[in-house]
Amino acid sequence: MQTIRGFRDILPESIALWQKIEKEAVQLFTAFGFKEIRIPVIEKTQLFARSIGEATDIVEKEMYTFADRKGDLLTLRPEGTASIVRSYVQHKMYASDPVRRFFTIGPMFRRERPQKGRYRQFYQIDVEVFGIASAYMDSQLIFMLNELFLRLGLTDLSAHINSLGCQECRPAFQTALLNFISSKKDQLCENCLRRVDKNPLRILDCKTPSCKAALENAPATLDHLCKDCEDHFNTVKTNLKKQGVAFIEDRSLVRGLDYYTRTAWEIQTTALGAQSAVAGGGRYDGLVKEIGGPATPGIGFAIGFDRLVEVMEQMGNLPEELPLDLFIVAMGDDAMEKCYHWSCELNQKGICTEMDFGSKSMKALMKRADKLNAQYVLIAGETELAQDAVILRNMNTKEQVTVPTQTLISELTRILKNNDIKK
Ligand code: ATP
Ligand code: MG
Repeated sequence: MQTIRGFRDILPESIALWQKIEKEAVQLFTAFGFKEIRIPVIEKTQLFARSIGEATDIVEKEMYTFADRKGDLLTLRPEGTASIVRSYVQHKMYASDPVRRFFTIGPMFRRERPQKGRYRQFYQIDVEVFGIASAYMDSQLIFMLNELFLRLGLTDLSAHINSLGCQECRPAFQTALLNFISSKKDQLCENCLRRVDKNPLRILDCKTPSCKAALENAPATLDHLCKDCEDHFNTVKTNLKKQGVAFIEDRSLVRGLDYYTRTAWEIQTTALGAQSAVAGGGRYDGLVKEIGGPATPGIGFAIGFDRLVEVMEQMGNLPEELPLDLFIVAMGDDAMEKCYHWSCELNQKGICTEMDFGSKSMKALMKRADKLNAQYVLIAGETELAQDAVILRNMNTKEQVTVPTQTLISELTRILKNNDIKK
């Protein structure tokens, strides 16, 4: 049996990096006042269709949708925002305190063409804020995201930012865009032609080379912003500049989901070929209302966890493998029983031990201790145990000492907690 196409195992050999990233992210987000939320991986299809947008790639062709036994249409979540908004509205969070800051980490599902950096089950680190309309929130989120990447040692990433306007300025922009498009119709792909009526903004996001070329001089939202949107965007940029966050104003950046308003951004890398975005985000001031709550501003971003891991692996930015603290060699049944209890007690104290519960030869066990890169080996032989002692061998210096069993645990805890290599 094999995993299905686009799905993969993340094996223990590569998990240290995932854990390191997750730890840094949780620490940082917590300091910025974010709380974790956990949401289901399946929701009603309608939730995603309504929020992400009917005419988007995700909803049109990438969702894993199926009818459950009673015929309800369900979908494996392709992203986190819609579910978090649903949760915010369902639990009437706006009533007790409309200002909420959330993060969540977990798998998302999109049926795309699998390749490096693009999977059908992938992971996102997702951050969402409700109830804050101020541009200070936009810059703070971008600052926090930038800070995370700095802490992870990533330097050659670039932040692309744009403003997509709001309900006020969108119609005038849409008219300008439609005028432009009407002269280019013969150069557009079938998909885009369909979208002219449904959602012309989506055409700007088409990856087909002929469409890209045709739209090179298309009108940009930036040229049609209303006064409020312009002020908002200027505040974001001024804040980021003062904070030393480098960014590129990218007037062609639109995102693959319909709900974005005002600030939208993407963190791009050249390290992964065509799959260039390691994170993307934006404001979605109309979404809470769309999902049935009161008008509430919202903003968030999602980091592509798999891609972030791949960028760091490529940089050779890997966490150090921790060596095994202690390998235990028990010779004989009596020794086995004693060692078993010592081993559990040491594990309780946070010391990583390994022992073989079978009856192997001394030679085989020492070989295994070497293979596991054990820093110390405890040898419990019949002769030593008869004198209430064991041998402790330092595998680096090859020094051996005899330790009385009475003080064994305290002695081992002292030695291994001070183990230089571990620090
Ligand atoms: P792309 O343009 O690469 O398709 P996207 O705009 O569809 O990305 P978002 O919906 O913004 O992606 O999701 C945020 C992040 O999640 C992306 O920047 C990317 O790093 C990651 N991501 C999206 N789709 C996948 C996928 N199929 N496999 C792995 N990571 C993904
Ligand atoms: Mg995509």
